[in-house]
Amino acid sequence: MTTRAADEVAALTSELIRIDTTNTGDPATLKGERAAAEYVAERLAEVGYEPQYVESGPGRGNVVVRLEGADTGRGGLLVHGHLDVVPADPAEWSVHPFSGEIRDGYVWGRGAIDMKHMVAMTLAVARQFKRDGVVPPRDLVFAFLADEEAGGFNGARWLVQHRAELFDGVTEAVSEVGGFSLTLGDDVRAYLVETAQKGIMWLRLKARGTAGHGSMVHTDNAVAKLAAAVARLDAHRFPIVLTGATREFLEGVAELTGVPFDPDDPEAAVARLGSVARLIGATLRDSANVTMFNAGYKTNVVPSVATATVDGRMLPGREDVFAKTLAEVLGPDVELDWDQLPPVETSFDGHLVDAMTAAIAAEDPGARLLPYMLSAGTDAKSFQLLGIRNFGFAPLKLPADLDFTALFHGVDERVPVDGLEFGTRVLTRFLLAS
Ligand SMILES: [Zn+2]
Repeated sequence: MTTRAADEVAALTSELIRIDTTNTGDPATLKGERAAAEYVAERLAEVGYEPQYVESGPGRGNVVVRLEGADTGRGGLLVHGHLDVVPADPAEWSVHPFSGEIRDGYVWGRGAIDMKHMVAMTLAVARQFKRDGVVPPRDLVFAFLADEEAGGFNGARWLVQHRAELFDGVTEAVSEVGGFSLTLGDDVRAYLVETAQKGIMWLRLKARGTAGHGSMVHTDNAVAKLAAAVARLDAHRFPIVLTGATREFLEGVAELTGVPFDPDDPEAAVARLGSVARLIGATLRDSANVTMFNAGYKTNVVPSVATATVDGRMLPGREDVFAKTLAEVLGPDVELDWDQLPPVETSFDGHLVDAMTAAIAAEDPGARLLPYMLSAGTDAKSFQLLGIRNFGFAPLKLPADLDFTALFHGVDERVPVDGLEFGTRVLTRFLLAS
């Protein structure tokens, strides 16, 4: 009997984890992305694909391959995953983070959840389709990408800017941080589908003052001015704004649990969510956290300049009011410039959502799909630039007691083998019905 996708997905996940693809954002520390991309390309080539291996720069390997569908007149579906991971300190872990050890029903290691599990599921399904001679209903484009953990500027963003033809005709995409289960009661599960993402505004702040000797009288101190401004920002409370996805999610949870949802007090509803409260809670309002502060070089010298950075995240539709609020709160003494990535938002309906719903229902009858907004960003932000409609749907059935959201970039990151096999079956059904 030939290998089925679900039979090889755990081994593929483990092998991918063993290729250390740590991405710190500093090119000098880069490792493993090329090896991981070559590994993926070989697994695809050995079943008959002719994958494109594309380097955006030295070692920044990306792999893209297309499986032609029956109806080439329909828009294609992109299934993408990133190959890089964030750093992991072996001293903190129960197993070595790059061992890919399979133990106690889990595949352990950095990337198990973010997101080599989905890369492995995608690879397993793509391989099965090729072995079986499957012609999907529409073009499927599989993309395995570098550099997501540092913004995708050498991965998704680079491909969108330089190799957009690889995604010709693609209208929709699925990828990470959605599709996982949340147990809400006795064996009642919701599967969260990401339909929106907050936008990003990464700001650089600068205050100027009068430099001089630290022993003198100073009334124009750059450090003090900037410190006061960031303290005001930290104290600022952005208003609660219940956006479409978050409202739909909380209403769905209320129906499933029988605990009514008060739209005037969404924080109470979020507090009842257990481990996903931190995921959903961050989507009730904009946020702006000070992350770096630099000034001065000597104790007895008042410097002329102080700088800081702020990680700002705004809800869809609030880009302008967010920027205006930041400028007001920080005040006229602070110079600002920034990089901005827009929010992502789509509706939870249509053929693709129906295909997700049917695929989950076939493997977990009685479960319900709910849309939600991600407070962070993914490569979806880059693919949105091509007009592609994005969803987070990397199907995974999780044990009720697993603190899933803590595993993202966390210690002892791991993925349940039976959940992976479940996800692979769902992904197969979903792509066949897409
Ligand atoms: Zn990720």
